[in-house]
Amino acid sequence: MFNIIDGKKISADMRKSIKAEAEGYRRKYRREVGLAVVMVGENPASAIYVRNKIKACEEVGIKSFAFYLPATVSQADLEQLVAGLAADENVDGILVQLPLPQHISGSKVLSLIPTAKDVDGFSAENMGNLAMGEKCLVACTPNGIMQMLKALGIAVKGKRAVVVGRSNVVGKPMALLLLNADATVTVCHSKTENLKDECLKADILVAAVGKPKFITADMVKESAVVIDVGMNRDEEGKLCGDVDFENVKEKCSYITPVPGGVGPMTITMLMYNTLQAALFRR
Ligand code: NAP
Repeated sequence: MFNIIDGKKISADMRKSIKAEAEGYRRKYRREVGLAVVMVGENPASAIYVRNKIKACEEVGIKSFAFYLPATVSQADLEQLVAGLAADENVDGILVQLPLPQHISGSKVLSLIPTAKDVDGFSAENMGNLAMGEKCLVACTPNGIMQMLKALGIAVKGKRAVVVGRSNVVGKPMALLLLNADATVTVCHSKTENLKDECLKADILVAAVGKPKFITADMVKESAVVIDVGMNRDEEGKLCGDVDFENVKEKCSYITPVPGGVGPMTITMLMYNTLQAALFRR
C-alpha cells in the first residue's frame, strides 16, 4: 500500500507556523522580517517564481522588497543594488532570481550577498558549513524534502539513501543533509555505472535529474520512499517529474507526486530561511 505525500498540506502547515514566528519576531524586535527579491529581465518562468515568492511573503507576514530591472542593466548598477541591500538593516534575506542575462557575471553578483543573508543557501560558505554539519542557511528544495520526511515521521537514520543528480542546488546539498541525518548515502550522476543496481539499494530514493519519467519501476526497491524533484514536461506538454509515477507508486511506501509534492515546499523553505536569517542576526 503506497502513500502519496501531500506537499501542499505539509507546506501549508509550515506556513502557518512561520507566520506565527514572524509575528512573534515583529513584536519582540519591533521590526518586520524582510526579504529582497531582485529580478533582471522578463523571463516568463522567473516572473512567475518571483510573483509566487512575493505572494508567499504576504501570506506569512514577511516584508518583501521587489526590484525589477531591465535586461539591459549594467553589471555595475546591479552590483550597486545588491551591495546596498547587503548593507540595509531592513533586509534579512537577498534573493537574486536566476538566470541572469548573458552579459552579467552572476557569480560576481551573488558573491556580494553576505552569507548571513544568502537565503538560497547557494554560497560557498553556506555549502561549506552544511558539509561541516554547522548551523547555516540550506538550499530550499533539499531542505524542504528533509522537512517533509520529518513531518511524516519517515526515519532517515541508518537508512540507505540514493540521490540521483549532483547539482549544487539540489543533489549535493540533498546528499549532505541525508548524511548529516545519519543515512548511508550514495550519489549517482550521468557517469554512474549500473545506475539501476544502485537505485535498487535505496530505502530512500531522491530523483533530481531533469528527465521525464527517468526512474522506472524496475529501478525501485519494494517499500522504498521515492522523492521526485524533477519538473519536466512530457510528450503532451503536461508537467511531470523524473519518476514514472503511475508504474512506480505501487512499489513504494511513500511517493511524492508532480505537481503537488516537492514543489510547494521550495518557496515555503525560502520563507523559513528568511526567518532563520533574521533570527541568526540577533
Ligand atoms: P541539473 O543541474 O541539470 O542536474 C541534473 C543532474 O542529473 C546532474 O548531476 C546530472 O549528472 C544528472 N544526470 C543527468 N542525466 C543522468 C543520467 N542519465 N543518469 C544519472 N544522472 C543523470 O538539474 P537540477 O538543477 O539539479 O534539477 C533537477 C530537476 O529538478 C530538474 O527537473 C529541475 O527542474 C528540478 N527542480 C525542481 C525544484 C522544485 O522546487 N521542485 C527545484 C530545483 C530543481 P552530471 O552531473 O554527471 O551531469
